[in-house]
Amino acid sequence: DAYLGAIDASNQAFNAYVAVTHDKAREMAKASDAKLGRGEGGALEGIPLGIKDLFGTEGVHTQACSHVLDGFKPHYESTVTANLWADGAVMLGKLNMDEFAMGSSNETSYYGPVVNPWRRSRVDTAVIPTTHQGDGGFVSPGGASKTRTLDNAQLVPGGSSGGSATAVSAWLCAGATATDTGGSIRQPAAFTGTVGIKPTYGRVSRWGVVAFASSLDQAGPIARDVRDSAIMLKSMASADPKDTTSADLPVPDYEAAIGRPVRGMKIGIPKEYRVDGMPEEIEALWQKGIAWLKDAGAEIVDISLPHTKYALPAYYIVAPAEASSNLARYDGVRYGLRVPGKDITDMYEQTRAAGFGREVKRRVMIGTYVLSAGYYDAYYLRAQKVRTLIKRDFENAFAAGIDVILTPATPSAAFGIADQDMNADPVKMYLNDIFTVTVNMAGLPGIAVPAGLDARGLPLGLQLIGRPFDEETLFQTAYVIE
Ligand code: GLN
Repeated sequence: DAYLGAIDASNQAFNAYVAVTHDKAREMAKASDAKLGRGEGGALEGIPLGIKDLFGTEGVHTQACSHVLDGFKPHYESTVTANLWADGAVMLGKLNMDEFAMGSSNETSYYGPVVNPWRRSRVDTAVIPTTHQGDGGFVSPGGASKTRTLDNAQLVPGGSSGGSATAVSAWLCAGATATDTGGSIRQPAAFTGTVGIKPTYGRVSRWGVVAFASSLDQAGPIARDVRDSAIMLKSMASADPKDTTSADLPVPDYEAAIGRPVRGMKIGIPKEYRVDGMPEEIEALWQKGIAWLKDAGAEIVDISLPHTKYALPAYYIVAPAEASSNLARYDGVRYGLRVPGKDITDMYEQTRAAGFGREVKRRVMIGTYVLSAGYYDAYYLRAQKVRTLIKRDFENAFAAGIDVILTPATPSAAFGIADQDMNADPVKMYLNDIFTVTVNMAGLPGIAVPAGLDARGLPLGLQLIGRPFDEETLFQTAYVIE
């Protein structure tokens, strides 16, 4: 009731939930109460969670925050959510996200942007000419230029799991599910001062989760601290015969890794992550993280991941290619929206034209282009080869004895909603993923953990990258930073 009350009181301001399942939540909570009363119950008994709109939830709003899935309520439950309910978790509702998880700011959602609960605490004053669209889309009203404070600018929570990160950060759920194809768990976690882990590809079943780029997509939790993330991931993860890419491996007790000493552990610092134009405060944060781990007895080792610079361009070929194929199914026949046309082809075209937003159309067009007969070898095949090289870089580092790699999670803190700079050029927005996409390209686990505030009082995160299926070391190390 407390969580539902908080959602009802403030969701209008944050826009984190796109559907609130009041009745279902109360019903599930009652069942949990009964179980707990009998001294029974699972690891998450009675814990209220928010679910990203990408997860199929039986009979409940599941639209990947796209218009094209209008009114879609699946008749199935995703394996991840089924696992959570089996452990006693309670569903509060479905969370806002970038349309089909394509974005880094939650601004591509059909349901509108999500507002980051964090605000700049240091008030910067600046002269904004009346015609100038300021940070956060603010337009000074009336007459001549005047001094305005910028502290009222609303910030993005990052994306694509912006609703998940905001709901956790603003106490509108105890934890949330999220997905990460190129950073969508870790970047919003960093922007909201929460913890987000993208597990190893295959650790968590993708069955029943709306597909974006199938060889990169992986679900994971966003939670308020490292321990909560460990408990949630344990529950979400499972080998699943319904997802042939899910790994047939036992899921360890992640919580047990928390508090284990990091003395003697080898922490790799990749020099290629010191990118041009990286703000000084990000470098300072990185140094702070290095110092903490050193103080805890870990050994700091400089390493090289030479193909890092190709990760972002290769990602923006592979991800749209797979997306263009996955999104072919939204044709006005099988799901959601249908816009009538004069014949079937016209109906397809009208439906897709009306149903998909700008960013999704951009991805479908790029993907179709790079997969087309004349260009396949030059783009898609080449990107897949680059991907192998990126993977080998990490394999070499781990073979040389590195246990975990430490990097910043993002190149900056949260930026303003409708930030002109970011939105004028899609490549600027894509650059937000510069530290996170390599991890998806290599299929590795990565965690973002809050590590400090920037000069304006906004949260910043560090990222830890681990060996395949070694999420335990990430929890162990992240706990030292937290
Ligand atoms: N921002 C990246 C993209 O738009 C990553 C999104 C994601 O991880 N789902 O593709």
